[in-house]
Amino acid sequence: MKDVLVSLACFIVLSMAPACMSADDSSKTADSANYDRQRRDMVESQIRARGISDPGVLDAMLVVERHLFVPGYYRKYSYTDGPLPIGKDQTISQPYIVALMTELLDVDSTDKVLEIGTGSGYQAAILGELADSVFTIEIIPELAEQAEKLLEKLGYTNIFVRCGDGFVGWEEHAPYDGIIVTCAPTEIPEPLLTQLAEGGRLVIPVGTMWQELILVTKTDGETRRESVIPVRFVPMTGEAAEKK
Ligand code: SAH
Repeated sequence: MKDVLVSLACFIVLSMAPACMSADDSSKTADSANYDRQRRDMVESQIRARGISDPGVLDAMLVVERHLFVPGYYRKYSYTDGPLPIGKDQTISQPYIVALMTELLDVDSTDKVLEIGTGSGYQAAILGELADSVFTIEIIPELAEQAEKLLEKLGYTNIFVRCGDGFVGWEEHAPYDGIIVTCAPTEIPEPLLTQLAEGGRLVIPVGTMWQELILVTKTDGETRRESVIPVRFVPMTGEAAEKK
């Protein structure tokens, strides 16, 4: 009898699931309008209000639907003012930090950009709205695969995802007009400085627990470093970074 009750309970739970899913489906339009409103609020109160003024960056933050890059349970928090877990102990960055780093990169529609740390693919999508092409490297295979599929589904034909160690950059397509690093090494990887084009900009968090966000510019072969703000990113992993 007990067995029968257990399997009956399982049956009830299982047979209720599709009903819940179809209820979700029918509220999709309402959800999407709600997310659109939340995204507009996010741009106004978290980004423009904190001094981001580049129209291209503000537009990209309005257009790219952050909630599509945030998994299941956390999706409802997509437009809150902070980072969120994306699985594998990694996070999607706070929207303001994404906007700030993108503004610092000063991307042009003819630019070729390299990103280290694809994660969810959100920052890559923002860059994909602004640049000619985006090359992005992720060290965790599952995240690289997931981001690649999502970006393809969203129609980005100018974003190229590679699974590998971003410490060494992506030499084949160098030099890059902009390089953005969204995980933190303890020192700036030398290959990234080499792969930065003349007149190019590199935005990178450098340090251990807390880091400094550094803007590197290259003119006449010389690099100049400028510290922007303290930040907190997940560490850069991989053999080369961990040896340092
Ligand atoms: N830009 C991402 C957030 C990145 S979180 C987004 O928009 O969602 C940092 C990412 O860097 C993690 O996914 C982590 O796995 C990745 N990472 C860490 N070390 C790396 C390395 N050496 N090369 C490439 N990716 C790395």
